[in-house]
Amino acid sequence: MPSTAQVGFVGLGTMGGHLAGHLHKFSQERHSRPALVWNRSPEKAVRHAEVHGTTAVASLGDLSACTILCLCLSTTADVEAVLAQIPLERGALVIDATSGDPEQTKALAAKLLAERGIRFCDAPVSGGPSGAEAGTCTTMLGGGTPEDVAAASELCDRWSKKVVHCGPVGAGDATKCINNVLNSAHLLLATEGMLALKSYGVDPATALEAINGGSGMSLQTTRLPDNVLSRKFNFGFALGLMRKDCNIAGALVGSQTPSATLIPRVVELLGEAEAEFGSDADYTQVAQLLEKRAGVEL
Ligand code: NDP
Repeated sequence: MPSTAQVGFVGLGTMGGHLAGHLHKFSQERHSRPALVWNRSPEKAVRHAEVHGTTAVASLGDLSACTILCLCLSTTADVEAVLAQIPLERGALVIDATSGDPEQTKALAAKLLAERGIRFCDAPVSGGPSGAEAGTCTTMLGGGTPEDVAAASELCDRWSKKVVHCGPVGAGDATKCINNVLNSAHLLLATEGMLALKSYGVDPATALEAINGGSGMSLQTTRLPDNVLSRKFNFGFALGLMRKDCNIAGALVGSQTPSATLIPRVVELLGEAEAEFGSDADYTQVAQLLEKRAGVEL
């Protein structure tokens, strides 16, 4: 019996383009049909179809038959605006890979279910563009019913080395914003440490070689040589998006643990870096903010 399931993807940006490629392979294997893709700038959808074999649709309404719809957009507000334009059928499952705002996501999911019978899981990812391409992301899943979680996990497995069900809807986004504020904090800390060492006469590359074999190591100390010391600053994650995630984390921490001191400072520094370099700068340029203030270049 031919499958009636149709899967679709909205948002073919730096991350979504890769995730949609994995979704397409899932669709071909499971349902013997291409995934439908849509992007606000239509040329990205046309190009995706040429490269991956997906079917580019011209309008959001063309996605209305999707029983599973994935999105990877900039913010939860974008997700809400897009979903309002797709007349999905009752019972459809939305899997949102956007790094969203947990409170907005909870409200959106409740509204979709109550008013339209649409199910929703938040499924933000960590792993960057290379992880998305290789299918080695970690997905932080928020979802209510066991059926929704099982269906979303099966799909997210296609682009993840690990899928962790963090709790009900919103828990994925909450976990992801804390993940990203930690990522930024580690980058800022490593940069501050290297600036002091350079001023003291220790070569940062040599110091990192030692630290990466020591207890001060973090993902950021391992990435610093390529992202910062090389002066490339091209990880592929926009500073404006990282600032968005840190702001979400700041609001979460402010509401849950107002005694916190370090995370609010990281949030401030991300805002100061965005004011200095603009939203489209690479997020690794936060290091340059500290360099500028120290009057030292790594
Ligand atoms: P991009 O800017 O590359 O892509 C954003 C996508 O969203 C584009 O397809 C864009 O369309 C679309 N979009 C934005 N606003 C709207 C809107 N109002 N209506 C319709 N489409 C819209 O961002 P990324 O791929 O880097 O990031 C996407 C999400 O993934 C973000 O939430 C980000 O925080 C998260 N993320 C990013 C990582 C990274 O390393 N880049 C890592 C992990 C998570 P258009 O092409 O027309 O602009």
